[in-house]
Amino acid sequence: MSKIHSTSTKPEIRLRKELWRKGFRYRKNDKRLPGSPDIVLPKYRTVIFVHGCFWHGHNGCKKYTIPKTNTDFWVQKVARNQRRDQEVWRRLEAKGWSVVIVWECELEKKRFEETIERVVGEIIENGRLYEQRRQERKLLREQRLKERKVFKDKQQAFLYELRHNNGRSTEVPSV
Ligand SMILES: [Zn+2]
Repeated sequence: MSKIHSTSTKPEIRLRKELWRKGFRYRKNDKRLPGSPDIVLPKYRTVIFVHGCFWHGHNGCKKYTIPKTNTDFWVQKVARNQRRDQEVWRRLEAKGWSVVIVWECELEKKRFEETIERVVGEIIENGRLYEQRRQERKLLREQRLKERKVFKDKQQAFLYELRHNNGRSTEVPSV
């Protein structure tokens, strides 16, 4: 029971199948990324974690009920998991990944459709933002290249001038 991410749970499989059916392509349990996310959608720069309500401490959920015995032990265990989750999210986000959390209770039959709708919405929005950031970086890169070229041209013109005027040129290129 200590291995939280070792096997795919049934709700997780249902979620994956539904995403696949809707045309999303993903990798499973990618160990190269922090926390080896359950579902990784590179095209949308999005990862999905399916969290067990008890182990990850789903606040306000009836499945997250701390046992009456060994209460301290369980409280601390869940708190430790939550801290680790937050650390994982922080590291993923630092690498430019968007993190979507799906609680197991959200994948129960009566909530499944609504959950899928939310998850798909988030994936698409994350993908849109990722594409936008990519375009902005590309433009910035092109702009820098252009500026560097202008500078080099000016520099060359200056050196040429210098050579041909035998050092009498007084004009210094502005950068
Ligand atoms: Zn829950």
